[in-house]
Amino acid sequence: MSGAVIRVGQGFDVHRFSADPGRPLVLGGVEIEAAVGLEGHSDADVVCHALADALLGASGLGDLGQHFPDTDPKWAGARSVDLLEEVLSILGGQGLVASNADCTIVCERPRLAEHTPEMVGRLSALLGAPVSVKAKRAEGLGAIGRVEGIACLAVALVTQA
Ligand code: MG
Repeated sequence: MSGAVIRVGQGFDVHRFSADPGRPLVLGGVEIEAAVGLEGHSDADVVCHALADALLGASGLGDLGQHFPDTDPKWAGARSVDLLEEVLSILGGQGLVASNADCTIVCERPRLAEHTPEMVGRLSALLGAPVSVKAKRAEGLGAIGRVEGIACLAVALVTQA
């Protein structure tokens, strides 16, 4: 790429709650105590997945599923912060870095407000760039409102290293 490169990307992810009450809930790399986790091949961290897809989208480098197929046993039980770190190194290989990102978690329960600052710290350190994390309730509407799962939306800006 030549010239000043400033690219925006968006990401979305959703996972249903696990039937296993012992499964940990991990969001933005932070384990939320006393909450049931999400179903998934990896740790099902929807925040990391949405953020990784936003970064890949901004970079024109496909999506998370292409790089880390959920049919690949290598990624079973993977920590999604590790996948996110992999994505950042894929970007780095193209001379790209994250400039900033903004995430919105859509979650009826548990309440996440007290956990978002820790997610911000974790993700900002990982990206080496400011990451914002906001939590919104679904106001009882739809599958998320019925507490069937948690979704996350993300946008990311990527620039030349
Ligand atoms: Mg996912």
